[in-house]
Parts: sequence; structure tokens; C-alpha cells
Amino acid sequence: MNVHLDTAALVVAAGRGSRMGGEEPKQWQMLAGKPVIVHTLAAFAGLRVVLVIHPDDRARAEGLGVELVTGGATRDASVLSGLRALEGSGVKRVLIHDGARPLVSRGLIDRLVTALESHDGAAPALAVTDALWRGAGGFVSGTVDRSGLFRAQTPQAFRFEAILAAHLAHPGGALDDVQVARDAGLDVGIVEGDEDNLKLTFPGDFARAEGILRGRGMDVRMGNGYDVHAFCEGDHVWLCGVKVPHSKGLLGHSDADVGMHALADAIYGALALGDIGRHFPPSDPQWKGAASHIFLAHAVGLAAERGYRLANCDVTLVCERPKIGPHAAAMQTELARIMGVDVDRVSVKATTSERLGFTGREEGIAALATAVLVKA
Ligand code: MG
Repeated sequence: MNVHLDTAALVVAAGRGSRMGGEEPKQWQMLAGKPVIVHTLAAFAGLRVVLVIHPDDRARAEGLGVELVTGGATRDASVLSGLRALEGSGVKRVLIHDGARPLVSRGLIDRLVTALESHDGAAPALAVTDALWRGAGGFVSGTVDRSGLFRAQTPQAFRFEAILAAHLAHPGGALDDVQVARDAGLDVGIVEGDEDNLKLTFPGDFARAEGILRGRGMDVRMGNGYDVHAFCEGDHVWLCGVKVPHSKGLLGHSDADVGMHALADAIYGALALGDIGRHFPPSDPQWKGAASHIFLAHAVGLAAERGYRLANCDVTLVCERPKIGPHAAAMQTELARIMGVDVDRVSVKATTSERLGFTGREEGIAALATAVLVKA
């Protein structure tokens, strides 16, 4: 997020949330292991934050690390209490947000602050795309023209002095701060809202919000690897942990398992931790002739230490001969065993290079690998 100097967030969480059911007001119910309000406040990290609370919630709000203000009997009164707490503090812009919208994104906050350069106020909204009906008694009783209709969200952003003056002058009963601003003659721009920025209203909204948070929390890493080894005298080659009879061998410092080397490098790459050469220097005689499963197991071990598991990997061997197809299943099984994953997460395939280049001339074998790691 950009740094927004002179910008404050006013998070309103003084309501009792009567539609949600349960003992707790919705902003204090648990969402993915934390109270909803903790998620909401985290979205504004880096800004000055004032949280407007119900007097009964003061004890549990003390530990949240933000400035607390006790709200009033109505939403209008609660917002005004929060604005007054910011008066004289040098704040130029304020984002007024509903505490029960925990999924507000940094991108939306940035768009709102930018919009305040040209408007007194700016608020996020989504155009209505579904048909709108009126209904009564379980029957459709009419249709409503949806053109020009928007679903309003928060945060609603304003130039601070302007919205404070608007609230002080307002008689009360406004639906939201945009209405207060418009009643005072301020212009309010519409900023593209965010479908994920849902307001927790009904019990089913929690499951949807948890799904969105899970998706955001997933850390996915991708890496690639490439390796080449030249043919030499011999009667077999090691490829992806399988000994394959051949009229030549592969030349290399270790067992020259070109496929496993590419795969290990893909995993190191996904972790941004260099390559095999960095962890097993060729200059060190202890790795001479080492079996390549040591490298692969090391790479997977580094991933596990950092909380990653292999989601899948894909190895492509490039050679005219030996033919890989008859051995591919055994290779997948062996790689899966070394990495401790199900075999359906491991792909080994091969291609020729149509007799072109060094692989086409059967001077050596090349291998490419891709690995995806996931931290859940
Ligand atoms: Mg190699």
C-alpha cells in the first residue's frame, strides 16, 4: 500500500448486529481464528485508526492497539464521536468504515484516497447486474429498472473538515455518510467496489468470508530448473532415480541424473535458495559420485522447514534415446517416494528434439523441470 500521510480510518463497530444471531455482536464473532474486528483493523495497518465501540466492548477492545472512542445511540452519533476524536489532529482525509466488512483490500483503500484528490468524498460501489424485482407474499409483484443503481460499500472516504462540518450540521437519520455528505452539498465520486468486500450480515456470510481469506492466505511458489549432461562410455544412465540400460553413460560429477538435478533446482528456485551447486559445491570431493536423491531430498527438506509442501512437479527429458516412455511410471514413483508425496503430483515425460542440436545428435541429455510449492 502507498503511504497515506494525513489519512485516518474511522472504523465503526458500536452496533449489536441483530440479524446475525448468536450471543456476540458480529464484529466480535470469530472469523478464521480471529475476531472479525481484528481482520478489519489489519486492513488499515499503516494509517491512524480510530475504533468506535459499544461501551460494553471496552474491555476486550483495549488490547487491539488502536485508539478507542465510545459510540452513541445511533450510527450517525457514533461516527460523529469518532470524527471529534480526530479533530485538531492534522488529519486531512478520513475513511469511514463498517467494522463488519473485514475483507476490504489495500487496493480499494488506495483508489479511494486517490479519488479524494478530485472529490470532496468518494465511496466504493458495484453496479447492480441482477434483475431487480418487487415481491410480496412469495410472489413477484413487479420489476425495477436497475439502470443507474449501485450497491454501496464502505469505506466511504472524505476530506476531513468537510465531513466533520457535514455531520455537525446534519439533523440525523442518514443511511450512511455519503448521504450526510450529499445533504451538505459535497460531491461524492463513485469508485469501483470489490465483490469480496462483503458485509457480514447473515450466518452464511462467515463461510464465504473464510473461503476468501483462505485464498488470500495461500502462498504459492513456482520454480524452474534446467540441466544438461553429456554422454560418455557406459552401459546405463540414471534418470529420475531409475537405472535405464543404454549404449552410453552420462558424464557428471555425481551420478549425472539430469532429470533429478533439474527437479532439485526447480525446488531451490521456488524457494529462491540458489541451486544444487550452492548447496553441494562440485569443488567438494565428498559429493563426487553422490546419488542425486540426496540433492532432491535436501531441496524438499528446505521447503518443509519453511512450511512449504510440493503441490506438483513436471519433468521433461529431452533426448532421442534411450526411450523414456517405458520407464516414466517407475521414474514418477521413485521421485514421489524421495519427496514424500503422492505419485499423482509428479509428472515425468520426454520429447526428442527432432534430431536437431546436441540432443538430436545424441551428444547428451537435457532436462527441464517445474515445481510448485504451497504454504497452506
Ligand atoms: Mg547436473
